[in-house]
Amino acid sequence: MRAVIADDDRVTTTVLARALQQQGLDVEIANDGASAWQLLNSGRPTSLAIMDWEMPGLDGIELCRRIRNEPSLVDTYLILLTGRGSRLDLVTGLEAGADDYMVKPIHHDELRARVKTGVRIAKLQADRAERIRELQAARDELNQLVSTDALTRLHSRREWFRLANIEFSRSRRYERTLSAIFLDLDFFKQINDTYGHESGDQVLQRFADMLRFVCRECDIIGRLGGEEFAILVPETSLTAAEVLAGRIAESCRNLSVPTPNGTVTCRCSIGISEAMREDGDIETVLRRADVALYDAKRNGRDGWKCYNPVDLRHDESQMSFHLV
Ligand code: GH3
Ligand code: MG
Ligand code: MG
Ligand code: MG
Repeated sequence: MRAVIADDDRVTTTVLARALQQQGLDVEIANDGASAWQLLNSGRPTSLAIMDWEMPGLDGIELCRRIRNEPSLVDTYLILLTGRGSRLDLVTGLEAGADDYMVKPIHHDELRARVKTGVRIAKLQADRAERIRELQAARDELNQLVSTDALTRLHSRREWFRLANIEFSRSRRYERTLSAIFLDLDFFKQINDTYGHESGDQVLQRFADMLRFVCRECDIIGRLGGEEFAILVPETSLTAAEVLAGRIAESCRNLSVPTPNGTVTCRCSIGISEAMREDGDIETVLRRADVALYDAKRNGRDGWKCYNPVDLRHDESQMSFHLV
């Protein structure tokens, strides 16, 4: 644990340094406020600082205020040292941000007792900071787990809807367009049945890699579940989204996935829908893409269909997409 001592009187700094070292602290000394401030900001954390009130230049009170306004020093335990012993001085010192206050001349036992308290508090602070870091790391890991699909590393269903709704709101706000693409692998059950579930998993991974390759950085790609995927394409009309769907269908046909049970190929069906003025959320856009996907399946699979309210006489009870 590191301690910083600031006093313009060298006898005092020697006495203080010895006392702190006896308690196992790693001591650094400054003889004026400005050098103390430099030491405190040198990057190494300071657990305890003892500073004299009266020093040339930057005094102890101003130093206390600065320390308390510096986020990286919030955990430093501050003891103010002074020849002034009035209640008013005490209040001024504590209000400036000191944790404790000691009146000169230094009484050895008092110093030891106060430093002991400071060290105890500093340890508690350090433990608390460590605990917070651990909790934050655990939280980040959990967030990562729920937002990423473990098999494909694409956005999970939940994360996809979260990001897609943010993008949807943005597009409404700025009156921009966007399209949603819904994809489903064809006869995937047969792939599992023929080559085994693990080979099926490999196909899903390779299909996801292909989507990442074919799409732009700003496209939001997610695995909604099983062999179903969705892409939100920002700033993209239905016609432009069709070009992407065509590329995806083509790339899917070109995929060949070597597995222990043989080389697997796959096909996919795609439904596309563009956001409409009256849409209130991304779910509505995606629901129409699902209607179009169903139409692509009915139309012989291995291809794409755009949502068209006039052409499509869809049977909504057949829709595979269910919002939960
Ligand atoms: P369609 O062309 O009509 O979509 O036929 P399909 O066989 O793809 O559709 P169906 O919904 O009948 O089957 C989907 C299959 O996807 C069934 C299920 O076992 C499989 N599946 C879902 N999740 C996974 C997974 O994580 N890994 C593997 N290997 N298979 C999965
Ligand atoms: Mg002094
Ligand atoms: Mg499906
Ligand atoms: Mg399928």
